[in-house]
Amino acid sequence: MAVFNVVTEGDEVLREKAVPVRKITSSIHKLLDNMRDTMYAYKGVGLAAPQIGVSKRVIVVDVGEGLWELVNPEIIASQGEEKGMEGCLSIPGVVGDVIRAARVTVTGWNRQGETVTVQAEGFFARALQHEIDHLNGVLFTDKALNIRRA
Ligand code: ZN
Repeated sequence: MAVFNVVTEGDEVLREKAVPVRKITSSIHKLLDNMRDTMYAYKGVGLAAPQIGVSKRVIVVDVGEGLWELVNPEIIASQGEEKGMEGCLSIPGVVGDVIRAARVTVTGWNRQGETVTVQAEGFFARALQHEIDHLNGVLFTDKALNIRRA
């Protein structure tokens, strides 16, 4: 159990393309645990590994329907379009409206290294897209309209 400091905008790690995980190891388990603890401590709904300074393709998401841990997540299908408000633990005090796919299908590994497929819509779909953007060095403020103080 460990809560990390969330890296904020301006830190280069947030702009790097994160590296795929080749194998699930105990260090990946520890990373997932630390990300989960950090996300809950900060009362976030999602966290990507670069946000705790680790440039690996790992995300955790919990929008109130349970914890999802995904390693090497990829969006394999998306449908529709929806505008919604977002914020980011790495850009505290700011929100903006982002247009994203309304529904996405995401595949990746779970912590056992098994391939899982998630179908998401609404806020869950938004959170997945936001976190996967982090793995590509993209922040929500790159895409947001009407950026404002929260
Ligand atoms: Zn974020």
